Amino acid sequence: MASTVYDALVIGAGLSGMYQLHRLRDLGARARVLEAGSGVGGTWYWNRYPGARFDSESWTYGYSFSDEILREWEWSEHFAPQPETLRYCEFVADKLDLRRDIEFNCRVEAARYDEAANEWEVEAEDGRRLRSRFLITAVGPLSAPTMPTIPGVEDFRGEAYHTGRWPHAPVTFAGKRVGVIGTGATAVQAITEIAKTVGHLTVFQRTPNWCAPLHNSRITPEEQARIKASYAEIFETCRNSFGCFIHQADPRHALEVSPEEREAFYEKLYAAPGFGIWMGNFRDVLINAEANATITDFVRRKIRSRLKDPKIAEKLIPTNHGFGTRRVPLESGYYEVFNQPNVRLIDLRETPIERITPAGIKTTEAEHVLDMIIYATGFDAITGAFDRIDIRGRAGRRLRDKWAGGPRTYLGLQVEGFPNLFTLVGPHNAATFCNIPRCIEQNVEWVTALLRHMRAQGQTRVEPTTDAEEAWTQHVLDTGRRMLFTQVDSWMMGINSNVEGKNKRTFVVYAGGAPKYRERCDEVASGGYTGFTFA
Ligand SMILES: Cc1cc2nc3c(=O)[nH]c(=O)nc-3n(C[C@H](O)[C@H](O)[C@H](O)COP(=O)(O)OP(=O)(O)OC[C@H]3O[C@@H](n4cnc5c(N)ncnc54)[C@H](O)[C@@H]3O)c2cc1C
Repeated sequence: MASTVYDALVIGAGLSGMYQLHRLRDLGARARVLEAGSGVGGTWYWNRYPGARFDSESWTYGYSFSDEILREWEWSEHFAPQPETLRYCEFVADKLDLRRDIEFNCRVEAARYDEAANEWEVEAEDGRRLRSRFLITAVGPLSAPTMPTIPGVEDFRGEAYHTGRWPHAPVTFAGKRVGVIGTGATAVQAITEIAKTVGHLTVFQRTPNWCAPLHNSRITPEEQARIKASYAEIFETCRNSFGCFIHQADPRHALEVSPEEREAFYEKLYAAPGFGIWMGNFRDVLINAEANATITDFVRRKIRSRLKDPKIAEKLIPTNHGFGTRRVPLESGYYEVFNQPNVRLIDLRETPIERITPAGIKTTEAEHVLDMIIYATGFDAITGAFDRIDIRGRAGRRLRDKWAGGPRTYLGLQVEGFPNLFTLVGPHNAATFCNIPRCIEQNVEWVTALLRHMRAQGQTRVEPTTDAEEAWTQHVLDTGRRMLFTQVDSWMMGINSNVEGKNKRTFVVYAGGAPKYRERCDEVASGGYTGFTFA
């Protein structure tokens, strides 16, 4: 008996894949989602490390498309912890009855476009093969964890965890000597939480980041009522802001106000919850180096004021980039952790790690004996999950090879040479620099409308033209260049020293802002999908 050929296969059951499945059902499409994990939620399924939580305001993060979900779900905190967000994803999966079309424990290893049949053939790790007309990747921007390239990782005899693959069973720290490698956004959350119960904590830091206070709190019943009554306005505000956050950039330039006024504004931002200090700052602090220096100086002084030992403060202050030019970790007492007598900071720029030993971590200075090592070493961001699948388009061309010198896409959603492949939250897509679900909804709705259009036209194949791809890729580069973050090594620039070949800056994110991106996508659609060829 011939096996099913699906209309669409979706890889990934995070927020992108879940919503895409829902919309595919609206189209009446036969769809199947393939998910490596054993449950829904993506990021919120995998990242169970202590302290994991939003830095988006919870009430701006959930799906906006269903009044019923908005009415029934209640966030308990302004920045919800991971268990609550996972419960939210499960609640949505139940509500929309999504699980019956999701294959869990199904890691996709390869996807090959069969030109003669105009179908994608997808192969899972366990040998399962499925076919479909359309292939939609929802593999996540931060879903491919990376381990450091340090010798001896396998030798360690104690407990060892990567934050992005945290065990489902509880992990305890009391009485233990714990080492954390990494000081990015995840590490900042984990370190702060672990420090509350740990026996002794050693933090191995290579690059300090500029962190700012989260100021989380519980949502009071009055706030809950207000939030529920104003969802339409909340989402409208997000829609019109650069990164779809609730925070709007201040229309003033940093240097056009007096130093006193500037200082007062920075104090206000530092005391306010969330990403306001990053996204709601003076309009030029992420573009103009002189403006950036003013906020950088302010945050530097704040860090110094929070640490008892000035030497440790200097180690925690970044010297190779300005505030906001890398992703800003939001913290809830991170700096004060280093005032604890049972916490030690090791600066790897002074004493690099030589190897992991059976007993702990050996730097050029000493061997640190540990009971547990936590790798908070992040992800092969944006393109990593794509690179881990052998995706082959027309004439067996590999996506990995095509993107070897940096991604090339049209609208961050399609790639020339790879017909009928859609890349939700893929490189060059506004979603990479976004309060992500807001952009996920845009991505999914746009792709769904294109599929509906094709069905109405009796078309079965869509692919961008070389010219359209060239022009979009150039536009991504041009828009990015004005931003200060493109002059700094970070995952937002495709850099990951733990991944071979990811040591050259490339534009993986779209920095033109979500409103501009949406406008461009809408123009393409209303112009009859300019830049695409159909058959
Ligand atoms: C710790 C952490 C905190 C974050 N906080 C925020 C925040 O506050 N605000 C915000 O906007 N964003 C945040 N993000 C980004 C977050 O990834 C997005 O908000 C959003 O969850 C992305 O959803 P997604 O469905 O696109 O991807 P994901 O949630 O990453 O889901 C992708 C899914 O695809 C699956 N998958 C990948 N490859 C394969 C394969 N080969 N075969 C089968 N399945 C595969 C994965 O298992 C995963 O379940 C955070 C990320 C992390 C890691």
